[in-house]
Amino acid sequence: MTATLKASRTKAAWVQEWAEVVAQTGDHDVYKLTLRAPEIARRAVAGQFVEVRPVAGRGSAAVDPLLRRPFSICEIRPDEGIITLIYRVVGRGTAVMASVTAGQELNVMGPLGHSFPDPATGRGMLVLVGGGLGIPPMVAAAARARAEAPDRCVTAILGARHVGFLAGAEELAATGVPAAIMTDDGSAGHQGFVTAPLKELLDAAGAGCEVWACGPEGMLMAVKELCRAAGAPCFVSVERHMACGFGACIGCTVPKSGEPGFWKACQDGPVFLAEEVELGG
Ligand SMILES: Cc1cc2nc3c(=O)[nH]c(=O)nc-3n(C[C@H](O)[C@H](O)[C@H](O)COP(=O)(O)OP(=O)(O)OC[C@H]3O[C@@H](n4cnc5c(N)ncnc54)[C@H](O)[C@@H]3O)c2cc1C
Repeated sequence: MTATLKASRTKAAWVQEWAEVVAQTGDHDVYKLTLRAPEIARRAVAGQFVEVRPVAGRGSAAVDPLLRRPFSICEIRPDEGIITLIYRVVGRGTAVMASVTAGQELNVMGPLGHSFPDPATGRGMLVLVGGGLGIPPMVAAAARARAEAPDRCVTAILGARHVGFLAGAEELAATGVPAAIMTDDGSAGHQGFVTAPLKELLDAAGAGCEVWACGPEGMLMAVKELCRAAGAPCFVSVERHMACGFGACIGCTVPKSGEPGFWKACQDGPVFLAEEVELGG
């Protein structure tokens, strides 16, 4: 079973593309960026990410910030050549990106890393768990599951500190996948953590569930432990700090589980079978 699940993740050859900014909208310091990046949209699979040079424009001499920033792909529309990203302003790079307007161009590399597995080859109920800025990749995952495994039962559990940080929840609802909403302060959905409804599902269906999760590493550790106890296969997307995005800088290592050595989150992940990685290390 494990070998099949491992093998079904996708890793495509990446390209570098000048992407036209079609739209940028935002509030609560959370922005949605819609990009026309036809080649990346054609190749991308849910769970993969892009590296964006925050400074806009082909002729720009600006080099601050120098390094690209990684973002999960939220929506993939190959027919229109469109991808969307949802991101929160946390520092210099994202602040510069937030100032970019429609019609400008951003240099984007992708799709990078391994995707979530093929939803059509998995078994049982598929449970998508997204915490905070781990929600955006779950939108693409939900859309893929609906399109490619229409007969499979798919459900989502989304959580955030506050309603303002539930970015991507509307996009996920638009895929038709039902979602339970949890917030730390009760400002939307139910008050509490995503692990509460996940435990209920796992208590009821156990190994009959397959779980895909993305979010803060503490959340991933708790999800991994619940799945291990229930005997349910679990895939986690590990969003470690990274620079290059394709394995050269070795800035995003994650300890292997049960054996010495490290994975590179950018190249071997960001999606891993949870039992393969030592989270929190
Ligand atoms: C594969 C991958 C996918 C990602 N997808 C998304 C996404 O969909 N939406 C989104 O908003 N963010 C996402 N991130 C995080 C995003 O890349 C960072 O927030 C961004 O690079 C910060 O750049 P900055 O220059 O604004 O901030 P910096 O000045 O670089 O950092 C500001 C603060 O954010 C912290 N920080 C930076 N990167 C991370 C990280 N990876 N994990 C935890 N803390 C970090 C820094 O320690 C610092 O405290 C993703 C990261 C990875 C590796």
